[in-house]
Amino acid sequence: MEVAKFSIEYTRFLDTEGKPMQNLPTFPKKETLLLLYKYMLLTRLFDNKAVNLQRTGRLNTYASILGQEAISVGIGASMKKEDILCPFYRDYGAQLMRGVKMSEILSFWKGNEWGNYFSKCPNDFPICVPIATQLLHAAGVATAFKLRKKSNVVLTTCGDGATSEGDFYEALNIAGVWQLPIVFVINNNQWAISIPRKNQTHAQTLAQKAIAAGIHGEQVDGNDVIAVKFVIEKALTKAREKKGPSVIEALCYRLSDHTTADDATRYRTTDELQQAWKEEPLVRLRKYLFNQKILSREEEKKLTEKCNTSIEIAIDEYFSLPKPELTDIFNYHFEKLPNDLEEQCIEANALFHLNKMQNK
Ligand SMILES: [Mg+2]
Repeated sequence: MEVAKFSIEYTRFLDTEGKPMQNLPTFPKKETLLLLYKYMLLTRLFDNKAVNLQRTGRLNTYASILGQEAISVGIGASMKKEDILCPFYRDYGAQLMRGVKMSEILSFWKGNEWGNYFSKCPNDFPICVPIATQLLHAAGVATAFKLRKKSNVVLTTCGDGATSEGDFYEALNIAGVWQLPIVFVINNNQWAISIPRKNQTHAQTLAQKAIAAGIHGEQVDGNDVIAVKFVIEKALTKAREKKGPSVIEALCYRLSDHTTADDATRYRTTDELQQAWKEEPLVRLRKYLFNQKILSREEEKKLTEKCNTSIEIAIDEYFSLPKPELTDIFNYHFEKLPNDLEEQCIEANALFHLNKMQNK
């Protein structure tokens, strides 16, 4: 006898040619669509510039968001300012929409501690590189919101590989048990560094992992920003109304290497990559906007120039940031440093000053 039955929904509005496959949701007013496009374009151009900065030795290892802009921008466009974002390391679109400066993101990838501090949204969490740990931090913040009876929501993101981690299951479990105001978004870009999705898990979908925790899970086309915004907004509203957490699996493809320290040609085929480019999110929305006469080629050109100018200004700002103090790496994790770190801090400081004197 059957004791339980579950299903996973999948949402998509635009096909690869930008043609509607069903009636669009009510939000796509012209201004909203243009805002989504503007931020997807800005994210793409910024990302390209960041890779170039790394290639020319002016940035350390950087994780590109190429091909995943719709997920990130869909998140940024759906959250309220007072909500909290606990991002993984490919969410520049959401961060830019929430007020994080491009110079702050670059600063983070330069290894500057101050790249963890966002002057215009100081409550958002820093970029999280360790896999899946941010999901537990997010569950902690959501618990605080619940205890304080706030209507704020936490949104946290992770990659497909993170869904195999213990932290992922623990965060989902506690979110389910305590019915926390939280939305988990899985950026399923098909690759966890060099491990393909099929070797990551035998589960048919990643969204169904929510079912085990007793919470809602669904899939969305992560290359369709309209669908992403629609599904995430719905999940955020549900969480805000205290109707429980959700897991959204957004399907896309990582068109770049994993990071600038990776070479994806060693483990994936050109055919697969070329196929994935046909699905990419930016061109899809652009085609829709052109077809609907919401955006002209001339306006698109001007928008590109405007984005490039703001990126150049941000890069100048990044280059002119003061050099961080060596002790900054010790200063922001503890109210009082534990003894072993205190010793390391003193030693590092002494070495730093010795080197400085010797280089004079
Ligand atoms: Mg991945």
